Amino acid sequence: MKEIILIKLGEIVLKGLNRRNFEDSLVKNLKRRLAKIGNFQVKISQSTISVDPMDEDIDMDEVADCVSRVFGIAAFARACVTEKDLDKIKEAAGEYLAEAFEDARTFKVEAKRSDKKFPYKSPEICMEVGGYLAEKFPDVSVDVHNPDVTVTVEIRDFGAYIRAGLIRGAGGIPVGTGGKACVLISGGIDSPVASYMMAKRGLELTAVHFASPPYTSERAEEKVVELLHRVAKYSGRIKMYTVPFTEIQEQIREKCKEDYFTIIMRRFMMQIAERVARKNDCHALITGESLGQVASQTLMAIGCTDSACNMPVFRPLIGMDKEEIISVSRKIDTFDVSIQPYEDCCTVFTPKHPKTKPVLEEVIREQDKLDCEGLVERAAEGVKLTIIE
Ligand code: ATP
Ligand code: MG
Repeated sequence: MKEIILIKLGEIVLKGLNRRNFEDSLVKNLKRRLAKIGNFQVKISQSTISVDPMDEDIDMDEVADCVSRVFGIAAFARACVTEKDLDKIKEAAGEYLAEAFEDARTFKVEAKRSDKKFPYKSPEICMEVGGYLAEKFPDVSVDVHNPDVTVTVEIRDFGAYIRAGLIRGAGGIPVGTGGKACVLISGGIDSPVASYMMAKRGLELTAVHFASPPYTSERAEEKVVELLHRVAKYSGRIKMYTVPFTEIQEQIREKCKEDYFTIIMRRFMMQIAERVARKNDCHALITGESLGQVASQTLMAIGCTDSACNMPVFRPLIGMDKEEIISVSRKIDTFDVSIQPYEDCCTVFTPKHPKTKPVLEEVIREQDKLDCEGLVERAAEGVKLTIIE
């Protein structure tokens, strides 16, 4: 039996005159993601996108999983397609819904007839199909007020679609419609969640990761790549830049007061990330900071970090508790990777007593002991590019 996916648009429908752009982006994103599974026809009509497999052996569970991670989709359904013939529709419904009816006690049928030439009106379709299903599944009875399963029969231009219930989509708005931003990605729990959250708001992601070999290992970098692979299941393709950070950290350790190490390091991160961002047409930075989580994320410390760059910095986790962040990271399947114990450059040369209330002038005075321009320049020159599909 032929199965397709029907997609209901999310917030896109609120976009007024921009609606076309959003719809086009969503269709483009869907096509690109689905291309890895097989050939599909992706069409939009009457506020519904249909995803129609063109190959015989396509695994529709895989397709549904892929669609469930594309932003801009409020809800979708799997549906079977049949000829616009009432007997064929009944028969197909009986076969297609057998699984959905297994655990159900009650159902109702709804019909939508966008092809007005179809000889039966909606109430007649409901009666006929409902009667057939009630007879075929004697353990399941009709309940129009509070059914376990709502069967929808849609009569459209190209055929009849039968489906049971809607599946919740990923929400948000299509990636790319909000422009591009550059996420500072560590191997921790927070920054992959921050990446996911901003991609959900329509941003295409570029990522920057700071590595300090030999203090940080190859494995730590591989872990970040794995995390981005998991984020990319939602955000689509990510360009990742690995920045050599060893020289900067060694210089800070050598020349600056210990209690300023972390805050100065973070300022360098922002400055380098901004450079990479500008080269990649990104107009904001993203971090996984959460207010008060660690010494470098107090109000004063964030002020010092922020003033190192001249670009908006998005911190989507700023008001979230660790527990809340972890629950998102479990949902997007990054948690298990994040908790693997590899060192991050933030965890080497950590001061015993980091300043929790750093004063910007003092931080700058310490940082100015270094050849900041040269250090930033060399780090930005030395980046290595990895494409995450
Ligand atoms: P967690 O707190 O779970 O370890 P984290 O590593 O993301 O998560 P921090 O170490 O406190 O948190 O760092 C704060 C933010 O700084 C991160 O969310 C990330 O955006 C950025 N960051 C930290 N280390 C790196 C790194 N090595 N490369 C790029 N960005 C980093
Ligand atoms: Mg960390």
